[in-house]
Amino acid sequence: MSAARLLNLAPDFATRVLHDVPMAKHTSWHVGGPADLFFTPRDALDLAAFLRQLPPDIPQLMIGLGSNLLVRDGGIRGAVISTHGALGSLERLSAQRISAEAGVPCARIARQCVKWGLGPAEFFAGIPGTLGGALAMNAGAWGGETWRHVIEVDVLDRRGVRHTRAAADYEIGYRSVKGPDDAWFIGARLEFERTPGVNTEAIRELLDKRKQTQPIGEWSCGSVFTNPPGDHAARLIESAGLKGFRIGDASVSDKHANFIINHGRALAADIEAVIEHVQRTVARVHGVELHTEVRIVGAPA
Ligand SMILES: Cc1cc2nc3c(=O)[nH]c(=O)nc-3n(C[C@H](O)[C@H](O)[C@H](O)COP(=O)(O)OP(=O)(O)OC[C@H]3O[C@@H](n4cnc5c(N)ncnc54)[C@H](O)[C@@H]3O)c2cc1C
Repeated sequence: MSAARLLNLAPDFATRVLHDVPMAKHTSWHVGGPADLFFTPRDALDLAAFLRQLPPDIPQLMIGLGSNLLVRDGGIRGAVISTHGALGSLERLSAQRISAEAGVPCARIARQCVKWGLGPAEFFAGIPGTLGGALAMNAGAWGGETWRHVIEVDVLDRRGVRHTRAAADYEIGYRSVKGPDDAWFIGARLEFERTPGVNTEAIRELLDKRKQTQPIGEWSCGSVFTNPPGDHAARLIESAGLKGFRIGDASVSDKHANFIINHGRALAADIEAVIEHVQRTVARVHGVELHTEVRIVGAPA
């Protein structure tokens, strides 16, 4: 990013914007080249002000915990905005409604809803991302899904103008969210049922069950592919003989075939090559086209 370009930033932002930040530090796969600019807002107003004065030709990418992102080795041209550690307010609005900002970790929503006697929100404990990421992905687990609970969302458009939109303004599907524009989520009002009997034991049991079937603790992005209608990506990959298939330090997990593991030194290119090999092999063996659930962004090395 040229110094001249940065002169366009107001002095307060120019000192807080980081340069050439390795995205490997901000993704759960621990891969990804540098982002030209990296900004963590203090709050939603600060974020709006930042977007307002960012030159319109600088591409923007909002991220949460990077738990569903494959950033290529050449990194990201433009500005990455992280909500992690920012936009963290979570409050109860009424008997069944809560308000949460985009940077709130999903696990915190799960735990707090249990304390409030609200549910079913336990599924959020299985999603190692932020609410913003869960809204963008319609993340779900154990039969629960984010958008089933959304009443309305607050968004900022690319120029930093805030809008509140009803859930009905969005077309929601399995891991798919289409809005009226490509604005960034900054918060949402969510509704749950009153479930006074629910306790944290329920969350622990679900997480224990998950540990038995998924390579939790290893570097991954969770499920790489969406499930095709009426089938499971993991079943198709396993029965194509791909468990353990490896390129460099990236391999299809032996424990759960829809996970790809970075064993420590994988490049994004290795992971992407494994993804493409899995897609080609499953298409040849089963005649099924697998689509990635993970978002692949950035420039090749
Ligand atoms: C071990 C493991 C298990 C997982 N299990 C599940 C699971 O059971 N179910 C499931 O659904 N997912 C699962 N995931 C994937 C991931 O946690 C979810 O997709 C999560 O919602 C991503 O949130 P994030 O904050 O990490 O988003 P990021 O990975 O940072 O971003 C993902 C996408 O959302 C966009 N985005 C992020 N924040 C915003 C925002 N504020 N406004 C607009 N767009 C935004 C990004 O631009 C990007 O396109 C798993 C991941 C891992 C590592």
